[in-house]
Amino acid sequence: MPQPPYKRILLKLSGEVLMGQSGLSIDPAVTARVADEIANAKTMGFELCVVVGGGNIFRGMAGAARGMERATGDYMGMLATVMNALAVQNALEQIGVETRVQSAIPMSSVAEPFIRRRALRHLEKGRVVIFAAGVGSPFFTTDTGAALRAAEMGCDALFKGTSVDGVYDADPKLVPTAKRYETVTFSRVLSDNLKVMDASAVALCRDNNIPIVVFNIREQGNLAQVLSGHGVATIVQ
Ligand code: UDP
Repeated sequence: MPQPPYKRILLKLSGEVLMGQSGLSIDPAVTARVADEIANAKTMGFELCVVVGGGNIFRGMAGAARGMERATGDYMGMLATVMNALAVQNALEQIGVETRVQSAIPMSSVAEPFIRRRALRHLEKGRVVIFAAGVGSPFFTTDTGAALRAAEMGCDALFKGTSVDGVYDADPKLVPTAKRYETVTFSRVLSDNLKVMDASAVALCRDNNIPIVVFNIREQGNLAQVLSGHGVATIVQ
């Protein structure tokens, strides 16, 4: 992988990334390791925005499947992302990284409201900005929230940290011969329904020329590796 010409990146972490073997939805040890990855990326000189999901705690769709009103479940899911954002903020501040959490749902006692220009100022001052509550509306996902914030913040790339090392032409857990793409186009991802991010997030990145870098965040040191152009990842562009 060549050295990517990125300066400002958005890191999307699904909520499940914060779970470990402990059975806790948010495992402090795992969260601390993720914070280390982010701190290393900062030391390398990158400006970092982070969007965290909430799937480790609650998803609106799961509630709806059991009879709950979808919109109510989605608001619960968004609140879950705020808990995750606070956990990541806490882990980062414990290792001396200055952060701000901005929530798309205003809750002034726990986080700043999302104000784009203020978020830009935080980045300029070297702070990591963590965006919580997705886009602030039900029927969306934090993937779409990540794509939206990446566009608003002028990010050079969206890094999607997952538990696989890129995008495959078939599910590698089911098909042993599945092939990993080094690069793949947005239109191939959409037409072949490849598992990267949801379609609205992919389309938003395509329309704003923001490459999506899919990599395994569970492997220690991997974010820094991928950022320096030596890691294993798939670039969607
Ligand atoms: N959600 C929402 N609007 C948003 C972002 C999230 O309604 O803009 C809700 C939705 O119910 C979603 C849940 O919050 O399932 C948690 O987010 P997501 O599933 O994207 O988390 P992840 O899979 O990344 O952990």
